[in-house]
Amino acid sequence: MRLLMKFGGTSVGDGERIRNVAGIIGESHRQGNEVAVVVSAMSGVTDQLIGMATEVSTCITKPLIDPYIASLRERHMRALEQEAPSLVHDVGEHIDSRLENLRNILTAIYNLRELTPRSRDYVISFGERLSSYVLCAALRERGLPSVVLDGCEAGIVTTPQHGEALALPSSEARIKGRIVPLIGTTIPVIMGYMGCTEEGITTTLGRSGSDYSATIVGAAIDADEIWIWTDVDGVMTADPRIIGDARVIPSVSYLEAMELSFFGAKVLHPRALDPAMRKNIPVRVKNTFNPSHPGTLVHRDERVHSRVVKSITIHQNVALVNINGIRLIGRPGVAKTIFSALAESDVNVMMISQGSSEANISLIVEKAQLDAALHALNGIVKDGIVREITSDREVAAVAVVGAGMAGTPGISGKIFTAMGKAGINIIMISQGSSEVNVSFVVKAQDGKRAVQVLHDEFRLAEAVDE
Ligand code: ADP
Ligand code: ASP
Ligand code: MG
Repeated sequence: MRLLMKFGGTSVGDGERIRNVAGIIGESHRQGNEVAVVVSAMSGVTDQLIGMATEVSTCITKPLIDPYIASLRERHMRALEQEAPSLVHDVGEHIDSRLENLRNILTAIYNLRELTPRSRDYVISFGERLSSYVLCAALRERGLPSVVLDGCEAGIVTTPQHGEALALPSSEARIKGRIVPLIGTTIPVIMGYMGCTEEGITTTLGRSGSDYSATIVGAAIDADEIWIWTDVDGVMTADPRIIGDARVIPSVSYLEAMELSFFGAKVLHPRALDPAMRKNIPVRVKNTFNPSHPGTLVHRDERVHSRVVKSITIHQNVALVNINGIRLIGRPGVAKTIFSALAESDVNVMMISQGSSEANISLIVEKAQLDAALHALNGIVKDGIVREITSDREVAAVAVVGAGMAGTPGISGKIFTAMGKAGINIIMISQGSSEVNVSFVVKAQDGKRAVQVLHDEFRLAEAVDE
């Protein structure tokens, strides 16, 4: 089998975890599989890089760049010394030269007090630029031939949208041309989370974007399966950090998994399913802490089981926008004006709800995009198209997901009756036409309780025949 395996941050968090990952890759290689690897930064490193980039661009006195570089070095060198003692000298040189690079760019950002989206992307890609060398060395130490490629060298060409770049169709042939010749003889370790523009400028694919790197590469090399290795047993009936009795779902469809990730299930990046779905490549989500568990299979089939609802998610990083008093009710073109204004400001609208009077429209956007949304909409208030815009940051979006919801009457009734009984007020409701999900908005403080109530209502903690 040709496999693309992606390992997340906790799975490569220290030497011991990297040893475990090298073991998993080695075992698969020994079984005769062709394996290509995509790797994330060690857990927490991307957050630190983002913090450091912001700090150096805004601080008044010189920030502590050297101790920061030293702590990054310490963490990666310790793992390298543990897992690849015979390669410490050679690989250590690579790590040091990368760190020198990072030190220079952070110093330049401090001197200029200017952090452009371009330089920010370059800085935050360094987590993967370091972890990949350690994993590759650990494989070589075990006698497995391996080479490191950054996202650009691997052929991932993207749009220039720094921080949220999308892979361009031209990536496919490039990745194929670069990676396929390698996998017969070696195990390529590709840095996740990054690509580059046509001009070779580094871009990043959005937080948790290594999942997306994995499916971009997996699809391009026509992998038989893409395995996303993480720190939980698979896609679960709810976030296990919120719901103690959440269970693993053995199989979900691409569409269900997309809805789940879009509405907050961090286990997969929202765009990650798209490349796999286009080529109908199954995606497995598996646990590096429990590798014998079969995990979750994400594939084309929509397996509807008697319980209908499969999973409940919550997105807490959202804000509500109310567009009130829309004038010219019923006249075509008003919605277009509103959504064009948002699109021109690059605001992504996650949920929409419009009353039948057409006088009000409510929207959900990422919290980080609220200011941009309000700015864009102020223009149409000034033009007299709407009376006022209000917003609320203290909200959460909850989504109930399951393919069988289409054509099963009563699901919405059950959801909202349960909310009513629990005394949870619903601020907004939206149901996509695919009917794979029903989503609604509640006050932030009610969000987690809403998930628990629904998890209980649909008895998701109980086993179900698949
Ligand atoms: P990685 O570093 O491997 O990419 P992430 O932290 O990005 O891992 O994603 C895994 C985490 O996603 C889990 O630890 C879990 O807390 C969270 N999560 C949220 N919703 C779900 C869900 N429905 N199923 C499984 N995990 C979920
Ligand atoms: N390291 C990146 C992040 O923390 C990408 C990833 O882990 O998938 O967002
Ligand atoms: Mg992730």
